[in-house]
Amino acid sequence: MQENVIDKIYIDGEFVTPHGTELADLFNPATGKVIGQVRLADEVDTEAAIAAAKRALPAWSATSKEERIDALRRLQAAVAARRNEILESLLLEYGAPVRNSYMVDSTVSAFADMITTLEAFDFTRQIGRASVEMVPVGVAGLITPWNSDPFFISDKLATALAAGCTVVIKPSELSATQTQAITQALHEAGLPRGVFNIVTGRGDVVGSAITRHEDVAKISFTGSTAVGRIIFREAAETLKSLTLELGGKSPSIILDDADLEEAVTGALMAGFANSSQACVAGTRILVPESRLDEILAIATAKMADFPAGDPRDPATAIGPMVSEQQWERVQSYIRRGVEEGARIVAGGPGRPEGLADGYFVRPTLFADVTNDMTIAREEIFGPVLSILTYRDEDDAVEIANDTDYGLHAYVFSSDAARAHRIASRLEAGRVAINGGYEPLSPFGGFKQSGIGREYGTFGLESFLEPRSVMA
Ligand code: NAD
Repeated sequence: MQENVIDKIYIDGEFVTPHGTELADLFNPATGKVIGQVRLADEVDTEAAIAAAKRALPAWSATSKEERIDALRRLQAAVAARRNEILESLLLEYGAPVRNSYMVDSTVSAFADMITTLEAFDFTRQIGRASVEMVPVGVAGLITPWNSDPFFISDKLATALAAGCTVVIKPSELSATQTQAITQALHEAGLPRGVFNIVTGRGDVVGSAITRHEDVAKISFTGSTAVGRIIFREAAETLKSLTLELGGKSPSIILDDADLEEAVTGALMAGFANSSQACVAGTRILVPESRLDEILAIATAKMADFPAGDPRDPATAIGPMVSEQQWERVQSYIRRGVEEGARIVAGGPGRPEGLADGYFVRPTLFADVTNDMTIAREEIFGPVLSILTYRDEDDAVEIANDTDYGLHAYVFSSDAARAHRIASRLEAGRVAINGGYEPLSPFGGFKQSGIGREYGTFGLESFLEPRSVMA
């Protein structure tokens, strides 16, 4: 008998029992133990959710900017009020270290950021003799991953609602506890029925049904590049608008003029962010050949600042992998790195000492990595970082861009002009210089990291269609 069965989905403003009957286990990745089960929705539930969003669309798309801002304020307050439950769900089901509680802050600020964007946004513009109106694209399907479930749901929801769209959200089946916590909060904001619906089910069942449905005008997806390709194909039949936020293999370029202590810390933080279960993780650390020995010495010493351990321990920097399958996958990459000739300078295969249970990985740093090795090419989604050397700036840029991905890049330098010059040559949707960050700037990838942009004005416009009226 399971003590916790999540057997409700959210349709038309109510928590309802799914028509689907399949049960899936939920795990605490820090112990490997089952913590409950989720009852998965099916195509019938998906139909009901899309129908509710379609009914709610005429009224919601006709709301004023002020009404939408008011709704976003209520959502923000409701999520902030449930901060503790959301954090608890992240600790329990995702194993996010408590020191990463910024994940809850960013969930709350997703609404605040969209309010800021909306306040400054003009839904009509004059172009020559045309008055151009930006109109909501229609019902949107939002498909999210497990690796920061409350944030992705909130960010996509805030943007879609700001545009005047109604939505059906398909969260990952691996994050039902987090989805339950965020759904409860969103419900308490008291928005009109059907404006948002949340249907947890399998990707190839519920996700696919949303992607293929003729009443859904847009898909905003965050997840793997492999699933992104499937969605691209399935959405072609109804010619949906698409935003695809996919994987990455981001470079961190340390320039020879950087403060090496600070740069190495910054690069390790970028690599180990969110236990390295982050699309933006800086997993290829590019260092000048001439400074390799110094950087290796600093990096090896600093690895002690990134211990894996109990997510509830404030000293823990890296939590467990989300599932046993993910643990196995990371192990196979560590073995592959050794087989292909890379050298382990910290960590290695197996579990960290004293952590026999749960899906913990030893934070691993490889040296002697070349950019053709599997560990430098494929997204590992675990705490396995590679150090590669470059000869000069041109070589650094070439190695950084020699990847199928192009989501993010990091540059560390004490010379602002030089860092900007390098940034302008990088094929990446975002380049952070010395840890720079701007939440309202566009987020998304070049190449196989995706299509389109999220956040701020660019994100908002991705849920809008321009209509030119010419007189
Ligand atoms: P995933 O692609 O396996 O799943 C993502 C979502 O898609 C889940 O809800 C899943 O159920 C659903 N899905 C699966 N098959 C589907 C189908 N056929 N049709 C429609 N939906 C389907 O990804 P994941 O393992 O949950 O997340 C990790 C991946 O997400 C990594 O590759 C990571 O880089 C990527 N990611 C990207 C970003 C970004 O913003 N670029 C952010 C976070 C994660």
